Amino acid sequence: MLDLKKIRAEYPILGRTVEGRPLVYLDNAATSLTPDCVVKVINEMYHCHKANVHRGVHTLSQEATDLVEATREKVRQHIHAQSIEEIVFTRGTTESINLVASSLGDMLQHGDEIILTVMEHHSNIVPWQLIGRRKRIRIRAVPISDDGQLDLEAYEDMFTENTRFVAIAHVSNVLGTVNPVKQMIDIAHRHDVPVLIDGAQAAPHLALDMQAMDCDFYALSSHKMYGPTGVGVLYGKRQWLEKLPPYQGGGEMIGHVSFDNTTFADLPFKFEAGTPDYVGIAALAQAIDYINELGMDQIAAHEHELLQALTQGLMEIDGTRIFGSAPEKGAVVSFLVRDINSYDMGLLLDKLGFAVRTGHHCAQPLMARYGVTGMVRASLAFYNTLDEVHAFVAAVRRVAGMF
Ligand SMILES: *Cc1c(COP(=O)(O)O)cnc(C)c1O
Repeated sequence: MLDLKKIRAEYPILGRTVEGRPLVYLDNAATSLTPDCVVKVINEMYHCHKANVHRGVHTLSQEATDLVEATREKVRQHIHAQSIEEIVFTRGTTESINLVASSLGDMLQHGDEIILTVMEHHSNIVPWQLIGRRKRIRIRAVPISDDGQLDLEAYEDMFTENTRFVAIAHVSNVLGTVNPVKQMIDIAHRHDVPVLIDGAQAAPHLALDMQAMDCDFYALSSHKMYGPTGVGVLYGKRQWLEKLPPYQGGGEMIGHVSFDNTTFADLPFKFEAGTPDYVGIAALAQAIDYINELGMDQIAAHEHELLQALTQGLMEIDGTRIFGSAPEKGAVVSFLVRDINSYDMGLLLDKLGFAVRTGHHCAQPLMARYGVTGMVRASLAFYNTLDEVHAFVAAVRRVAGMF
């Protein structure tokens, strides 16, 4: 069992008010809150270790470098990657996906096909479209059932001799669906097609094992898993990272530079041009320790209890439509009440102290699939309480009554 009182004391922001009412933060899928222990590391970095990494011989630079490389090892262990060469630091999931799309794009030909799904976040759609503009590749999207599950038969049928890549969300940021990624990766591999998993919504809630999953790439964001903003991770199987050309050029990513011939650094530095966010990277290690100390199982159990209470409470409100009811579902509930506009509902909920997300959730093709322009989304984290969930349901009921 999680000690919620103790946990919540680590988040000063949970003590603040909004519109004179206690804040109830239910926008965790957009960004998570950051515990004191992580903020402390950020402070320590500025106070004690502020020096550029991988460059200086001086003590401060060595210390900063060691902290960054210790995080790399921490991430490797956390996601069970084979080696630290497979862990690339980026600015976030978006940059991780852009890196793969851009580098892989160089290797694609006209007429090649890529498989995505209807439930992808824009950051796993648009980077592929940008490549598509350069190379006229074809993008296909796996459809979903009404309850928000991918149609695996349709997926399997999409593979042709021109299929070159698959990129899918591990957990949908709107529907909460936990996709059967292992099964989908196996299918793709049978066709010799590599797979990228967008793990932005999975990393905060699920234990990750790259060996068991066998994906070729995995992308995640620190700020959604209780770490600092501005840092992300791209995991890539070594043989793929070796094959891909560099994404950006600059310092750090080179072997030797001359105007005749420049060589590139070894992995993972080939993909880390310029000064990384070494402050944030160092603090990410603390966030990983923090969630592991709480226990991913405990986190999942508590969030599941909250999810059930939230789902049940909202269902009892007349005219509520919940989007996504897959049996395997993460702790987000997207919904609409009657024909009340999501933005209007969100504004009124904010007046009552509740922070939720409204609108298209960076997933406009998914909104189109359900024939709506937006939804209200309440997304949970382990520091949320059952009392908050009940208060939220009461608030939605009250707001719905105003229309
Ligand atoms: C948030 C999110 C992203 C983008 O993450 P950034 O941190 O903004 O780069 C991508 N995919 C999913 C599923 C997300 O929820």
